[in-house]
Amino acid sequence: MDLIRLRGIGVSPGIAMGEAVLSTRVLFTARREAVAANRIPAELKRIQRALARTRDDLVQLQADIRSRIGDEPAFIFDAHLLILQDKTLLDGLERIISGEKVKAEWALSQVHQKYEKVFEGLSDEYFRQRKSDVSDVLAKIYRNLEDKAAAQDEETARRILVAHDLMPSEAALRISHGQVLGIALDMGGLTSHTAILARSLNIPAVVGLHDVTRHIRSGDYLIVDGTDGEVIINPPPAVRTEFQGKREKYLSYGKELRKTAKLPSRTLDDVRFTPLANIELPEEVQMGFSYGAEGIGLFRSEFIFLQRTTLPSEEDHYETYFRIAKESHPAPVYIRTIDIGGEKALPQLQIEQEPNPALGLRGIRLSLKNRDLFRTQIRAILRASSLRNVRILIPMVTEIEEVLEVKRLLHEVKAELDEAKIKYDQHIPLGVMIEVPAAAAVTDLLAREVDYLSIGTNDLIQYYLAVDRSNEHVSYLYKPLHPAVLRLVRAIIRTAQREGKGVTVCGEMAADPISALVLLGFGLRMFSMNPIFIPRIKKVLRAVEARTVRRIVNAALELRTAREIEEYIIEKILVKHPQAFLMRHSS
Ligand code: PEP
Ligand code: MG
Repeated sequence: MDLIRLRGIGVSPGIAMGEAVLSTRVLFTARREAVAANRIPAELKRIQRALARTRDDLVQLQADIRSRIGDEPAFIFDAHLLILQDKTLLDGLERIISGEKVKAEWALSQVHQKYEKVFEGLSDEYFRQRKSDVSDVLAKIYRNLEDKAAAQDEETARRILVAHDLMPSEAALRISHGQVLGIALDMGGLTSHTAILARSLNIPAVVGLHDVTRHIRSGDYLIVDGTDGEVIINPPPAVRTEFQGKREKYLSYGKELRKTAKLPSRTLDDVRFTPLANIELPEEVQMGFSYGAEGIGLFRSEFIFLQRTTLPSEEDHYETYFRIAKESHPAPVYIRTIDIGGEKALPQLQIEQEPNPALGLRGIRLSLKNRDLFRTQIRAILRASSLRNVRILIPMVTEIEEVLEVKRLLHEVKAELDEAKIKYDQHIPLGVMIEVPAAAAVTDLLAREVDYLSIGTNDLIQYYLAVDRSNEHVSYLYKPLHPAVLRLVRAIIRTAQREGKGVTVCGEMAADPISALVLLGFGLRMFSMNPIFIPRIKKVLRAVEARTVRRIVNAALELRTAREIEEYIIEKILVKHPQAFLMRHSS
């Protein structure tokens, strides 16, 4: 076993050490298990029962989708039902079970293999693509033979998950139970949602490793260093000891930082700032407050969808929102309406594949196209606002008409609730995310229509610099300190303040010490970020004078490159406030 060290992007800090489990996405067994002749009737019953259950699931899923978004996407399930009802499928399965005296799992895997071959041989691209529909149906049957979800949890428990890529939905399902020790992926970038989720849950993760899955076999011993972006395969004892020490240092440093959580959020010259938490799961509320958050600055509500296979009902939405609002009360909670599309695909919605999803139907665009879905969410948010600490946040706004449309809908839903005598906050604040450059250019106009603004720098930077934020080939261009970005963000903050509206930054920029200082210098006072970064940012901002930082940052904006700006800020602030940088590279 050779020692291999691979470099990637460390997206969630900390060190994980343990056994690797390779997620190959193969859902079917590779083991041929025989059954005794007298068990064959029972095995046939199992497969028939799994088929019936799958049919029920599909019918229910289809009805759900039809009632919420209409016939068009529901039509996909007609195709799935047809595959399921195809007599040759059941006949084929029964023949293998009885003929070869094997378990149903093996029969399914054989049938799956056969279909794969047939589909791959087709010359028509459209029909070749239908392979995934068949696989989907067969996988559903397979899961219905046993509780596959539980089996999967067990498999990854206390291990390091290695995969080519993880969709946010897969990641949410697999890692939300806190059992995975670490994550190593071939694909991905710093702000992919899988990375964000790993950070929220404190799971060390390295992504963008290109071919880690080729080097690792399940059972290999791994070190995932999420702080420095390194993965070490089968390290010798000396390296293990070295990283054990590094791990302990990291953990005790984390404890030290958490002490900061309880200290006041004030700069040296007594300027008040507010750290807020970005969360994806209601379970993170307590963690956010324990790290020093003074509210939930961003709840990414799409995670409600990503954690289930059917569409959430109004009650599902309401329960989640009310729980977050209650646990945070009286602190504010900004609930962002779903931001689906782009990298955040939703299997339940059967969204048409778009040639350029980042510029396609995502965020508020998708919500306004799926009115029933949006209305359900708005109703649930309004109902959860009865404690008066809930705010609505609209993602990916491009033009003012979208805001007017949301306001019209909000008005209608409020009238419905009034009629039904359901309590809610009549003055629930409405805000928009500034993530599209066009929205940034009309900040003044938008500010006049809403109660507050939230700058989503992750998307804003990617759209402004034309850099896909999860593409490791161009991630070197993704520079929050690019003078263009800084000028734009400064203009948004100033305009919002001129219009008398609150403004938050909720992108990753708020969590980076240098960027946070720059934002403070621009006059920003509300910083929303992944909870684990709050103590670090609090410590940095508490160690400086806001007026000195403002002067330095204004001077830095005369410079030409991100690098010059960064060096200038470090040099000048270090002279004035050496405390601010003590921990810069250590977390
Ligand atoms: C952002 O774009 O900065 C943001 C906070 O939204 P998300 O990362 O969820 O796209
Ligand atoms: Mg965004």
